[in-house]
Amino acid sequence: MGEWSEYFEDFPEENPANWVNGKFNPALREQLNKEATQQEAANSEINNLIAKAKEARKAKSLERKANAFVVTEDCPQCGLTELKTYKLEQDFYLCECQDCGIYGAGSTHAEALASTCSAIGDGLDWRDEMLD
Ligand SMILES: [Zn+2]
Repeated sequence: MGEWSEYFEDFPEENPANWVNGKFNPALREQLNKEATQQEAANSEINNLIAKAKEARKAKSLERKANAFVVTEDCPQCGLTELKTYKLEQDFYLCECQDCGIYGAGSTHAEALASTCSAIGDGLDWRDEMLD
Protein backbone atom coordinates (compact mmCIF):
# COMPACT_ATOMS: atom_id res chain seq x y z
CA MET A 1 0.00 0.00 0.00
CA GLY A 2 2.79 2.40 0.98
CA GLU A 3 4.62 1.53 -2.22
CA TRP A 4 1.59 2.32 -4.36
CA SER A 5 0.94 5.68 -2.69
CA GLU A 6 4.56 6.69 -3.24
CA TYR A 7 4.36 5.55 -6.85
CA PHE A 8 1.16 7.56 -7.42
CA GLU A 9 2.85 10.65 -5.95
CA ASP A 10 5.41 10.41 -8.75
CA PHE A 11 2.86 9.44 -11.42
CA PRO A 12 -0.52 10.89 -10.34
CA GLU A 13 -1.97 10.38 -13.83
CA GLU A 14 -1.59 6.62 -13.35
CA ASN A 15 -3.77 6.68 -10.24
CA PRO A 16 -7.33 5.75 -11.31
CA ALA A 17 -8.63 7.72 -8.34
CA ASN A 18 -7.49 10.94 -10.03
CA TRP A 19 -9.72 10.45 -13.07
CA VAL A 20 -13.27 11.78 -13.43
CA ASN A 21 -15.42 10.63 -16.36
CA GLY A 22 -12.40 9.68 -18.41
CA LYS A 23 -10.45 12.90 -17.71
CA PHE A 24 -7.41 13.32 -15.50
CA ASN A 25 -8.57 15.82 -12.89
CA PRO A 26 -7.18 15.28 -9.37
CA ALA A 27 -8.63 18.60 -8.09
CA LEU A 28 -12.15 17.71 -9.22
CA ARG A 29 -11.75 14.16 -7.90
CA GLU A 30 -10.72 15.56 -4.51
CA GLN A 31 -13.72 17.93 -4.57
CA LEU A 32 -16.12 15.08 -5.49
CA ASN A 33 -14.70 12.85 -2.75
CA LYS A 34 -15.14 15.69 -0.25
CA GLU A 35 -18.73 16.24 -1.37
CA ALA A 36 -19.47 12.51 -1.16
CA THR A 37 -18.12 12.45 2.39
CA GLN A 38 -20.22 15.49 3.33
CA GLN A 39 -23.29 13.87 1.74
CA GLU A 40 -22.71 10.69 3.73
CA ALA A 41 -22.46 12.70 6.95
CA ALA A 42 -25.67 14.57 6.09
CA ASN A 43 -27.49 11.33 5.28
CA SER A 44 -26.31 9.78 8.51
CA GLU A 45 -27.54 12.81 10.49
CA ILE A 46 -30.93 12.68 8.73
CA ASN A 47 -31.26 8.95 9.44
CA ASN A 48 -30.51 9.59 13.12
CA LEU A 49 -33.18 12.29 13.25
CA ILE A 50 -35.72 10.00 11.57
CA ALA A 51 -34.89 7.17 14.00
CA LYS A 52 -35.31 9.52 16.97
CA ALA A 53 -38.63 10.84 15.61
CA LYS A 54 -39.90 7.27 15.17
CA GLU A 55 -38.89 6.36 18.72
CA ALA A 56 -40.63 9.46 20.07
CA ARG A 57 -43.75 8.71 18.01
CA LYS A 58 -43.80 5.12 19.26
CA ALA A 59 -43.39 6.18 22.89
CA LYS A 60 -46.15 8.77 22.50
CA SER A 61 -48.42 6.16 20.90
CA LEU A 62 -47.86 3.71 23.77
CA GLU A 63 -48.53 6.42 26.34
CA ARG A 64 -51.68 7.52 24.54
CA LYS A 65 -52.96 3.94 24.40
CA ALA A 66 -52.20 3.35 28.09
CA ASN A 67 -54.38 6.35 28.94
CA ALA A 68 -57.16 5.34 26.54
CA PHE A 69 -57.43 1.63 27.41
CA VAL A 70 -61.04 0.39 27.64
CA VAL A 71 -61.17 -3.39 27.78
CA THR A 72 -59.44 -6.67 26.84
CA GLU A 73 -61.66 -9.21 25.06
CA ASP A 74 -61.47 -12.44 23.10
CA CYS A 75 -59.93 -11.87 19.67
CA PRO A 76 -62.31 -12.79 16.81
CA GLN A 77 -59.39 -14.09 14.75
CA CYS A 78 -57.03 -16.02 17.06
CA GLY A 79 -59.50 -16.59 19.91
CA LEU A 80 -57.09 -15.48 22.63
CA THR A 81 -58.12 -12.92 25.24
CA GLU A 82 -55.70 -10.42 23.75
CA LEU A 83 -57.94 -7.99 21.87
CA LYS A 84 -57.45 -4.61 23.51
CA THR A 85 -59.76 -1.72 22.80
CA TYR A 86 -58.73 1.91 23.19
CA LYS A 87 -60.93 4.98 23.15
CA LEU A 88 -58.52 7.42 21.55
CA GLU A 89 -61.07 10.17 20.85
CA GLN A 90 -64.68 10.78 21.91
CA ASP A 91 -65.83 8.95 18.75
CA PHE A 92 -62.79 6.92 17.79
CA TYR A 93 -62.29 3.40 19.10
CA LEU A 94 -59.38 1.18 18.13
CA CYS A 95 -59.13 -2.60 18.65
CA GLU A 96 -55.75 -4.34 18.47
CA CYS A 97 -54.95 -7.98 19.15
CA GLN A 98 -51.72 -8.26 21.14
CA ASP A 99 -51.21 -11.79 19.80
CA CYS A 100 -52.14 -12.09 16.11
CA GLY A 101 -52.02 -8.36 15.30
CA ILE A 102 -55.45 -7.92 13.73
CA TYR A 103 -57.00 -4.49 14.24
CA GLY A 104 -60.00 -2.37 13.43
CA ALA A 105 -61.44 1.01 14.25
CA GLY A 106 -64.81 2.69 14.45
CA SER A 107 -66.77 5.52 16.03
CA THR A 108 -68.10 3.18 18.73
CA HIS A 109 -66.73 0.13 20.50
CA ALA A 110 -69.20 -2.07 18.56
CA GLU A 111 -68.14 -0.54 15.22
CA ALA A 112 -64.47 -1.07 16.01
CA LEU A 113 -65.19 -4.71 16.88
CA ALA A 114 -67.19 -5.17 13.65
CA SER A 115 -64.34 -3.60 11.66
CA THR A 116 -61.89 -5.99 13.36
CA CYS A 117 -64.14 -8.99 12.56
CA SER A 118 -64.40 -7.95 8.90
CA ALA A 119 -60.58 -7.89 8.67
CA ILE A 120 -60.25 -11.57 9.63
CA GLY A 121 -57.97 -13.31 7.15
CA ASP A 122 -56.60 -10.06 5.70
CA GLY A 123 -53.23 -10.62 7.36
CA LEU A 124 -53.29 -7.26 9.15
CA ASP A 125 -50.77 -6.55 11.89
CA TRP A 126 -50.85 -3.17 13.59
CA ARG A 127 -47.24 -3.71 14.76
CA ASP A 128 -45.99 -3.58 11.14
CA GLU A 129 -46.84 0.12 11.06
CA MET A 130 -45.04 0.77 14.32
CA LEU A 131 -41.82 -0.76 13.06
CA ASP A 132 -41.42 1.03 9.77
ZN1 LIG B 1 -55.78 -12.23 17.77
